[in-house]
Amino acid sequence: MNSFLTVVGAGLAGSEAAWQAAGMGVPVVLYEMRPQRPTPVHKTSYCSELVCSNSLGSLNDTSAPFLLKEELRNLNSLVIRSADAHAIPAGAALAVDRDLFSAEITRALEDHPNITIRREEVEDIPAEGPVVVATGPLTSPALAEKIAGLMGDEYLYFYDALSPIIDANSIDYEKTFFASRYGKGSADYLNCGMSREQYDAFLDALAKADKVPLKEFEKPVYFEGCMPIEELAMRGPKTLAFGPMKPVGLNHPETGQRYYAVVQLRRENKEGTAWNIVGFQTKMTYPCQREVFRMIPGLEQAEFFRYGAIHRNTYVNAPELLGPDFCVKDRPGLYFAGQIVGVEGYVESCAMGAVAGRSAASRILGRPFSLPPKETAIGSLLQHVLTKGKGSFQPMNINFGLFTGMETGIRDKQARNQAIIQRALAAQAQWLEPVD
Ligand SMILES: Cc1cc2nc3c(=O)[nH]c(=O)nc-3n(C[C@H](O)[C@H](O)[C@H](O)COP(=O)(O)OP(=O)(O)OC[C@H]3O[C@@H](n4cnc5c(N)ncnc54)[C@H](O)[C@@H]3O)c2cc1C
Repeated sequence: MNSFLTVVGAGLAGSEAAWQAAGMGVPVVLYEMRPQRPTPVHKTSYCSELVCSNSLGSLNDTSAPFLLKEELRNLNSLVIRSADAHAIPAGAALAVDRDLFSAEITRALEDHPNITIRREEVEDIPAEGPVVVATGPLTSPALAEKIAGLMGDEYLYFYDALSPIIDANSIDYEKTFFASRYGKGSADYLNCGMSREQYDAFLDALAKADKVPLKEFEKPVYFEGCMPIEELAMRGPKTLAFGPMKPVGLNHPETGQRYYAVVQLRRENKEGTAWNIVGFQTKMTYPCQREVFRMIPGLEQAEFFRYGAIHRNTYVNAPELLGPDFCVKDRPGLYFAGQIVGVEGYVESCAMGAVAGRSAASRILGRPFSLPPKETAIGSLLQHVLTKGKGSFQPMNINFGLFTGMETGIRDKQARNQAIIQRALAAQAQWLEPVD
């Protein structure tokens, strides 16, 4: 085992991993392939470049993204520190001047006495660990091939087709019914029946909604069989009613009512606090998703834990591959962090980098390390990454639907969220005590 940490990729996750490990006194070699080898989206040679929006999510102090940032602040996160230093006015969001933000991170990493930055592409997973692979959704093809070779092709995914996830508390159960098709098995699905008129109005709204255009490198995604719901709708007025909104075998179990179309919701977790709209991956903009999906009977007041999306990505099947210490099961000392480990978003990626960096540094120092508790935002993301059910693993952003198995019993949403946040920060403080 090396006495230094190798980090591959100086994006949001890799920069944070290097910073955290270096802060614990461990020498770090940080590899970044830009500017020698560009990606299809990065435009600069800065570390932690923001590839699209300049927002690091909500500042609303009853939101899950707020909690995640707060926990990272408590870990002395370089990414969040730089974001705070270069924040620009953006209402309730933490938006940053992207160049000043990334320039500061780059400078801090370059100036750190424990960090050496090497500007070169890593084409294979370094044999000697500890290593944190944080090469992101656009991992270079050579390295992606090696990762697939190490793990098996079936453990590396190249796109996301995400259906929206709804807060169970916001569903109208008077207008929906539990049933499985033809009554087979237990009644696990929550069904939203539509009349012909409701279906037609829904199709019309789908057609008129604003969509996010596909980037050139994302186009092959459609050939892999994940059509956005609005594209399917354009194939003909009955396509959805014969496809993801098929009503056959789904009459109302009590009234026997038949529907022209049925939207099915599937539990996203055991507790049933979050529901996934089955087969509703989409390229509609977030405001349009909110408007159009609220036309579904029973979802008029729906609150979205996650919006639908389809985009190019690279991520490993973490629940299958990673052990409880966050390392690859049969490769102790090999970590994945950032979007490649199955989270979604800048701050989520940074959080996974912080955990991998700290864990790897502890390994080098011969110190015990425990993962952040599941009551915390970082811990709840780790729960998703490490334990999400077989075959259904998809990248996730931070949301209160992930805080499962610890209900507060509070009905008021604001008060409930505040209680979750207080509990998380207390649990983090307790976790940090022995660690620091
Ligand atoms: C097009 C696009 C738009 C997105 N927009 C948003 C958004 O608006 N908001 C949001 O929150 N999230 C967004 N995301 C999702 C995600 O948050 C970001 O991709 C985030 O940057 C992921 O962080 P990361 O550290 O995992 O990867 P990255 O930030 O991409 O960092 C990976 C780094 O590894 C380097 N690298 C890759 N391969 C190698 C190699 N072989 N050797 C050495 N270096 C290598 C890359 O150059 C890069 O610097 C977007 C993703 C994509 C693809």
